[in-house]
Amino acid sequence: MSFKDLKLNRPILRAIAEAGYDNPTLVQEKTIPIVLEGKDSITSAQTGTGKTAAFALPILQLLFDKQDAPKKGKKVRALIVSPTRELAIQISKNFTTYATYTNLRTAVIYGGTSIEPQKDILNKGVDILVATPGRLLDLHKQDAVNLDYVETFVLDEADLMLDMGFIDDVKKIERLCPETKQTLLFSATMPFKVEQLANSILKDPERIEV
Ligand code: AMP
Repeated sequence: MSFKDLKLNRPILRAIAEAGYDNPTLVQEKTIPIVLEGKDSITSAQTGTGKTAAFALPILQLLFDKQDAPKKGKKVRALIVSPTRELAIQISKNFTTYATYTNLRTAVIYGGTSIEPQKDILNKGVDILVATPGRLLDLHKQDAVNLDYVETFVLDEADLMLDMGFIDDVKKIERLCPETKQTLLFSATMPFKVEQLANSILKDPERIEV
């Protein structure tokens, strides 16, 4: 299978080609069509399988295709929540690379560093926001970020997120997004508490295993 078979559009195919990817990985083959259909999904995949592109590429395509809608200004359209700063930075770098030939803007926010520059970035407007949970909630409390227009919500490394004690924060964040959003959950392992979380936030999800 090729990326073209997955019905990705030209600006995205061009960025993938420049990144040197020849063919989709298994998790990409299985996940991309489901995300493009707008369905919720729960995917068990380890880091290193290409799971970041499995959600980033179709999300970019969905946002890109809906650009004819009036400009939403400072409203975040895709929100990716990640347990650690390092992972969040890595995800945002990937989005920025894949979005090279679109006009979609990505930003990353995380704790342990000063909050003001992050407010400035958000104030300029971002389409895709990658965030760690605590700092995201802080910024939301300070009215620096609007989640009322999130179309796609991604919970990455859900098992690690729960191990790190972020369950309440994650649930809070999920409730700050519109009920109509698409939700994608990724986890390396599927312990009972991840299943429970999935049951509480996913709507009729497709299950993907690699
Ligand atoms: P991830 O599992 O998202 O952490 O990705 C692992 C690595 O695989 C990253 O360095 C990606 O840039 C790379 N990668 C993702 N998809 C592909 C692909 N289809 N072909 C080659 N490399 C890829």
